[in-house]
Amino acid sequence: MEKQIKDNFSFQLVSRDGSARAGLVTTPHGVIQTPVFMPVGTQATVKSLTPAQLDDIGVQIILSNTYHLYLRPGADVVQELGGLHYFMNWQKPILTDSGGFQVFSLGNLRQISDDGVVFKSHIDGSTHRFTPESAIAIQEKLGADIIMAFDECPEPNDRKYNEQALARTHQWAERCLQAKTRTDQALFGIVQGGIFLDLRIQSAEFLTSLNFPGYAIGGLSVGESKEDMLAVIEVVTTIMPEDKPRYLMGVGTPYDLIESIRRGIDMFDCVLPTRLARHHAAQTLHGRINLAKAEFTRDHSPIDPECGCYTCAYFSRAYLRHLIIAKEMLASTLISIHNIFTLTSLAQTLRKSILEERFDITAAQFLSGLEKSL
Ligand SMILES: [Zn+2]
Repeated sequence: MEKQIKDNFSFQLVSRDGSARAGLVTTPHGVIQTPVFMPVGTQATVKSLTPAQLDDIGVQIILSNTYHLYLRPGADVVQELGGLHYFMNWQKPILTDSGGFQVFSLGNLRQISDDGVVFKSHIDGSTHRFTPESAIAIQEKLGADIIMAFDECPEPNDRKYNEQALARTHQWAERCLQAKTRTDQALFGIVQGGIFLDLRIQSAEFLTSLNFPGYAIGGLSVGESKEDMLAVIEVVTTIMPEDKPRYLMGVGTPYDLIESIRRGIDMFDCVLPTRLARHHAAQTLHGRINLAKAEFTRDHSPIDPECGCYTCAYFSRAYLRHLIIAKEMLASTLISIHNIFTLTSLAQTLRKSILEERFDITAAQFLSGLEKSL
């Protein structure tokens, strides 16, 4: 079984510059160059974009959400229709989360025990239960290339809760490994422990002993300070094995990408670029622009003159503002293209700088551009 996983999935560390890494993740649906930003397709669609548009942007892998697809249309339906790649017509790699984060975000709508979590659907209030075994079974039906362990996502500053949750997350990680039957999917373990470095070390050491093909850091970017987030990344990456990919979950601002790549992270996902787009905000490497503002009514210039995306090549801020004011759907599409391109190309530019051993210089240039906007 171990051999089959290796044939289907591997990580090659191509180059290092300081702690920053350039690598290649091989999956059954193709090779991913890291560092990489993964857009989120919550309900088997990256909101407002077609797979062809994602391809044009240079997206290499997308993430989809187990919780949402389990509730609607159902994992059995997706499986019957040929799995997620065929269902949504995305033939490049896909990663599914375990549903843990969504379930724990439901607050009062859920009950936790050592066995799993009972929760109420946000759609119709019906009652459901996720266990490590069912989270794996659902992800096997969905058929992504990379699947995630079912974990508990506690509030990051609560020491007592993090201690209890960590023990459960570790037991659940072992149960996920035992529950797995498919050999063509790579299951990643998730390091938890809130902002507490000793818990994070304990978690990273325990999970690496289980020999997952990749590791994620969960429970960050949920309200803790930047200093705490970076301190956790710095500690955990020193324990994570060099020859496995490292995925920082739910992180996706330019600043966070740069500082996390500097500390040795390879993969990122975030809903931010498409969420911002739906709220009329363009993310640039010089800050965010609210395109609904009246000052853009006659602005000929693109969102960012230095950007190489389709939107910036062909459309003015004035046109985008018009679409927003007229409530046209194309506004979300064009701004999403720009926002995802910004993060995708930032990761690619940083990768190149690692290969050329000039990461610090490139990162400093990006950071000075971002600082000017503050
Ligand atoms: Zn652009």
